[in-house]
Amino acid sequence: MESGAIVLDTTDHGESDLIVTLFCQESGRVTAIAKGAKRSKKRFVNKLEFFTYLQVNYQQKNEQVLAFLSEAEIYTCFPSLRQNLNLYGIATIIREFLLLGVKDGEPDNNIFRLTLWAFHRLDNKEEPRQVLALFLIQFFGYLGYRPDFHSCGNCNQTVQTTKSYRFNSSSGQLICSSCNQNNRCGRPLSQGTIKIVQTAQDQPLDRLHRLKISGSILKESLQLLHNFGRHIFQREITSWHVLAENKKTSSEPSYLKNPEQ
Ligand SMILES: [Zn+2]
Repeated sequence: MESGAIVLDTTDHGESDLIVTLFCQESGRVTAIAKGAKRSKKRFVNKLEFFTYLQVNYQQKNEQVLAFLSEAEIYTCFPSLRQNLNLYGIATIIREFLLLGVKDGEPDNNIFRLTLWAFHRLDNKEEPRQVLALFLIQFFGYLGYRPDFHSCGNCNQTVQTTKSYRFNSSSGQLICSSCNQNNRCGRPLSQGTIKIVQTAQDQPLDRLHRLKISGSILKESLQLLHNFGRHIFQREITSWHVLAENKKTSSEPSYLKNPEQ
């Protein structure tokens, strides 16, 4: 089987092999063994790194067994992601969401293209938190979580500038101030955030880079997406802490594996 693939994870297997988790364009998530990857310097050297976009060739009898990775050729390794701590951190959050959302045997060309879009944008050193926000808005949508940001989830009235709104992560609904007079439900959202999420949900991939999110709207959007993501997957997003760390320090973090490669 031949496919475009993005490296999501690797673990050592014995003395010389690697187990690689790939996001394949043709087949969704594939876990493959790369025989001799740690020894044979020629065949896989520097190819099986996180985020790298490859053309792979693998054989698999069925989805219950490991695939056998026979070849891998690099399209791009997104070099900036490995040289810049901020970019690496954001790519790591995207990687964690992909590991949670991409399933065996379920190819999703939209998510595949969206991931390449995000890694290319990060590699071009665009504002990484903006890339993350736009990625997550569309990623959740492709997974079937596309909250209606055009109207209140309770009274169904179209969003109005005269009202204030909150977002309830559990129900995935926007609730207007008339329906939620004691403000107990969800987190407040500004009109600016509501507008940018609406727009980003509908934006085709080839025009997604035109959207700009910054300042308090970016901060609020990321908070919303973090909470919603935790709700969708019913777990903590462990790499999210890099967003806080990046602000404080530029020293080498423990999650940066093999920085010399
Ligand atoms: Zn309402």
